[in-house]
Amino acid sequence: MKTELVIDLEAEKQEILKRYRALLRASKSTLQKGDKKEIRKAFDMALESHKDMRRKSGEPYIYHPIAVAQIAAEEIGLGTTSIVCALLHDVVEDTDITLEDIEREFGKKTAKIIDGLTKISGVFDTNSSLQAENFRKMLLTLADDVRVILIKLADRLHNMRTMDFMPRHKQLKIASETIYLYAPLAHRLGLYAIKSELEDLSMKYLDPDTYKFIAKKLNEKKAERALFIKKFVEPIDEIVHEQGLVADVYGRPKSIHSIWNKMKKKNIPFEEVYDLFAIRIILDSAPENEKADCWKAYSIVTDLYRPNPDRLRDWVSSPKGNGYESLHTTVMGPRGQWVEVQIRTQRMNEIAEKGFAAHWKYKESSNDNGLDQWIQKVREMLSNPEANALDFLDDFKMNLFSDEIFIFTPKGALIQLPLGATALDFAFEIHTDVGATCIGAKVNHKLVPISYKLQNGDQVEIITSSKQTPKEDWLNVVVTAKAKSKIKSSLKEEKRKIAENGKEILERKLKSLKITYNTDNIQKLSYFFKLPSTQELFVNVALGKIELKDIKEYLSSEKEVENRSPERPENLSVDGIKSKIKGGESDILLIGEDMQRIDYTLAACCNPIPGDDVFGFITVSEGIKIHRTNCPNAAQLMANYGYRVVKAKWNKQQELTFLTGLRIVGIDDVGLINNITRVISTDFKVNMRSITVDTNEGIFDGSIMIFVNDTEHLENLIKNLLKVRGVTGVTRFDA
Ligand code: MN
Repeated sequence: MKTELVIDLEAEKQEILKRYRALLRASKSTLQKGDKKEIRKAFDMALESHKDMRRKSGEPYIYHPIAVAQIAAEEIGLGTTSIVCALLHDVVEDTDITLEDIEREFGKKTAKIIDGLTKISGVFDTNSSLQAENFRKMLLTLADDVRVILIKLADRLHNMRTMDFMPRHKQLKIASETIYLYAPLAHRLGLYAIKSELEDLSMKYLDPDTYKFIAKKLNEKKAERALFIKKFVEPIDEIVHEQGLVADVYGRPKSIHSIWNKMKKKNIPFEEVYDLFAIRIILDSAPENEKADCWKAYSIVTDLYRPNPDRLRDWVSSPKGNGYESLHTTVMGPRGQWVEVQIRTQRMNEIAEKGFAAHWKYKESSNDNGLDQWIQKVREMLSNPEANALDFLDDFKMNLFSDEIFIFTPKGALIQLPLGATALDFAFEIHTDVGATCIGAKVNHKLVPISYKLQNGDQVEIITSSKQTPKEDWLNVVVTAKAKSKIKSSLKEEKRKIAENGKEILERKLKSLKITYNTDNIQKLSYFFKLPSTQELFVNVALGKIELKDIKEYLSSEKEVENRSPERPENLSVDGIKSKIKGGESDILLIGEDMQRIDYTLAACCNPIPGDDVFGFITVSEGIKIHRTNCPNAAQLMANYGYRVVKAKWNKQQELTFLTGLRIVGIDDVGLINNITRVISTDFKVNMRSITVDTNEGIFDGSIMIFVNDTEHLENLIKNLLKVRGVTGVTRFDA
């Protein structure tokens, strides 16, 4: 794509200065004597070194570091060092400036943070390496300075905000990484606003149709919603002030991504999502009155509106691990609609929005150190050299996404564990030795097995026995990364001991059969018994699974196959498949055309049909699979295995049909099914594979699997089905 640019350099200069001044205003609250000079120096250096560079959009490159610095200051609340680092975050990588230059001008600390940032982008922007391993490296820098991660998040946020000029395949890769790695990280660091924006922006690129659909729906009812919120808030506002509380009460819309999640999770159309917004009551309280004021406000709200007793969340008494504090309740609004109300103080609100940095600021006045604990945990996980990067990421994400539960020790101390944690997890959390010798537990004084899933508030006493040792199947019982890695290393040690014993036994056995004990023979034996390693061979011998007679069997077979070499399965190589595609005119896989040359199938998880936005994924043993870019597995695949992804596009001229599903809901009416099937088979001549219908008190809910040509065909069919009398909703669903 070629774009012609007419640039007014003078106007651009003015604009750069304008943006710089806005940055200074944003950082004003943290500036101390001399800080302004430091920021100016960094700005001048960045401006000079990026001076001939432009972004994909044609804008001067310097806009980007200024914006990243502004996000760091304004949205994360970071101070001067971080602003300086953000302004300079790309200079070492992209210009002639060296780390030594930075250190000379700005000192060691700044140089170190910029070094971390340069290293991260170095490993992240290549296609060839495994993303999870890179992510691990990124987190390793946590040990040095959390600001590296925070500035990287600001960098990513600005790149996501300005991605329109990127080629499609890059948009997909960056958006996938964002939803898979960065958004959870922002969440865990307590940066809720940034997390939501990253999720929404990812969805805008990964699933543009749904994104636009929900955005449009939200916009349609905007005025009506505003009126509802106004009426709902008015009486609260009044009484809150009557009772002498200082508070800001307002409605806040939920993010598109979270609305979509709810629609999918509950399998409901947009119209049935009731909580499109939440009400917030932000109190201005003296530190000693915070908790009492929150409950006072709670009492006012629930006097006015009836609360749902199952929906009270008290994170004021027990804050979340990432520092979040708030009181949530759901009440019945005047129009018979549930409304979520969030109550917190200004201090709590700042922590909720800016996370880590605000946490830091209030640290002295708060005794909660959940974030410090978390960073400690990350370090523990990272320092384990055994951990495979992907395992690590799974464990890490498991710990990221799950909510926490709080468990009491017999003496009343509070231990925080991820949701789903078992008695055995708890034992390992107490101490490695307690975990390793655990035989059971008493939960609230009742005896339970080690696999017992703990509930929030349980009091747990661990029962141990000196005869107990960790078992292989314990790995299925625990969920915390800590317990997993301790069990693995202990099993490994155990195995090593058994293998040593087995090795001695095998030596004796071979001697009696007059076979020489050497590496070659040991490897041949392992191969014969189909064992992955010689260690496994020794273990099998030690456990008596391989006996003298088995070895004799090997001897006779060895004579039979003397000169035949073992056959090995043919491996599909990523490069081989890619060069096959590139053998054509472009590097894009044309679905429908390349079929003869290249082995591919349509993924069953998302059932793509022509017209869908798709990509190809080279699997280990099943050739290429075609997925939709909004497939539930897509982000994970693209983020971790970028090098296995191939661009794919539908070939227009084809007569094939594809299986997809439609969910039809409506008011049950005589002949409704007949009318639906008439539209499908007679009017549209579409083949149906199956139809399941559920009628319940006059509500019709049907799932139909049909064969269609492409998305246009499908959309026309949906349009006509909506015209059938009684039908209120038609949506496509995946298998
Ligand atoms: Mn950047």
